[in-house]
Amino acid sequence: MDITLLRTFSTTRRIKTGAWSRLQPVFLNGVSPCMDACPASIDVPKLFHLFLEGREREAALLLLKYNPFPSITGRVCPHPCQDSCNRGEMDGAVEIRAIERVLGDIILEEKIFPPKGAFQGPSVAVVGSGPAGLSAAWYLSMGGMDVTVFERERAPGGVLSWGIPAFRLDREIVTENLRRLEEIGVEIVTDYTISPEDLSELHCRYQGVLIATGLGRSRTLHVRGVEHAWQGLNLLKGYHLEGTLPPGERAVVIGGGNVAVDVARVLVHEGRKTTLVCVEPRDEMPAIPQEIQEAQEEGIDLLDSYGLEEVVVRDGMVAGVRIGRVCIVGEEDRMKQVAFVDNVRDEVPCDLVVLAVGQEPEEGWEEGDATFVAGDLLMGPGTVAGAIASGRDVALKLVATLQGRSFEGVRATLWERDHYEVITFQDLNPSYFVPLPPGEVKDRAGAMREAERCFSCGYCNACGNCWIFCPDVAIIMESAPQLDPDHCKGCGICATECPRGVIYMREKGC
Ligand code: SF4
Ligand code: SF4
Ligand code: SF4
Repeated sequence: MDITLLRTFSTTRRIKTGAWSRLQPVFLNGVSPCMDACPASIDVPKLFHLFLEGREREAALLLLKYNPFPSITGRVCPHPCQDSCNRGEMDGAVEIRAIERVLGDIILEEKIFPPKGAFQGPSVAVVGSGPAGLSAAWYLSMGGMDVTVFERERAPGGVLSWGIPAFRLDREIVTENLRRLEEIGVEIVTDYTISPEDLSELHCRYQGVLIATGLGRSRTLHVRGVEHAWQGLNLLKGYHLEGTLPPGERAVVIGGGNVAVDVARVLVHEGRKTTLVCVEPRDEMPAIPQEIQEAQEEGIDLLDSYGLEEVVVRDGMVAGVRIGRVCIVGEEDRMKQVAFVDNVRDEVPCDLVVLAVGQEPEEGWEEGDATFVAGDLLMGPGTVAGAIASGRDVALKLVATLQGRSFEGVRATLWERDHYEVITFQDLNPSYFVPLPPGEVKDRAGAMREAERCFSCGYCNACGNCWIFCPDVAIIMESAPQLDPDHCKGCGICATECPRGVIYMREKGC
């Protein structure tokens, strides 16, 4: 070693400059905007850190703590995480969903399962096998419960099997995930209807019951001729489970949500000329923006800010729809209330009308001591990721209840953060990040390259910058940085140079 450097170092170590300081740094991991926005609260920076370190199995197990079906959300989630990603302020959000898809597929291919808890719990019934029910079944089984899922259709999976079109979600991926549930011991009974009246009988056989039946009934509009319209949910179910579609070459779909867009896309894929009519302006439609864009690219005509006045029927057959321009004047019971802006009405000729204007529960379920409700039934219509998260949270609560423990919620239990402030772009030191636009993520290598673009906002990934820059050698770098208070003179260089907003200068003793 250079003798001058050695002398400087030994002098620095001998003089305890720590006694001079008023301030000292504290290392606090905060919350990245992506994990804050994710409906499943996935700890994205920690996940990417493990993945980039080559600790792929640990990354996979971390992901499964939050979401048992990343190969599904990695395909269909509208990725609000990316909309909030700090990297968006620089050169484009990190392609989080695509990385999640790659990791999800690795989990399937390599059959990665977390170890099951030693607890051998009682029997639990889950009613409904959509994303919330299946997620609940996974976490209940992981918690040691003996789980039976009841599904009234002859195929399990709920909207994953009959709602989301196969061009958005490959059915083989759904089947693989169902297989994984069977592998961990979950029994799925199909063609079996359970109603609220059956609850007491169910409680005789099971110590816990979790209801995740979703929103299975389509709402309707009170306009003339509406009895001649098809319901969007029934159309999707018939198409995906029976391979049938209603007749009609020119279709009008009424609605602006995901079901409406999925119906319209199914129809256009089947060669029907399709128009989508919705009361919202395009940029306020509740459907996933990317799906709306793809629908338009596929040739669907969109008439936004239009309301339905009448389904025109001639000689007992649908002949068209009468529509007019509307504005939204309010919302009642999750239904938009609209008013026509003038007396002008247009007739759009068609021979098939499909309504997809919202869903509601088919039956009223009540929570009780050992009866829990989850998914859309609890929260209203949402995303697959939101339903998975709800199923998980309610299942973890039920496991805790059956084990006689309290459950603080997933964020408090799983996030392992020192504080809950969301780290903004302004909290980071962007001079350490080289501009690099998002790349294509098709495989492991692409996922790695893209994960490297992550700033790791608010999460210390042990980059060592603070250790390198500290002029007083007051930071000790092991698996994470630690302060040597005897030598820190409180200059704050480490806090300035931390790229991720992890270091805060605080008054000593505070
Ligand atoms: S589940 Fe959706 S929001 Fe959450 S990290 Fe994955 S893509 Fe993003
Ligand atoms: S840069 Fe990384 S940690 Fe920060 S918001 Fe984007 S994905 Fe999340
Ligand atoms: S500079 Fe790097 S090692 Fe130091 S606190 Fe920040 S992220 Fe962690």
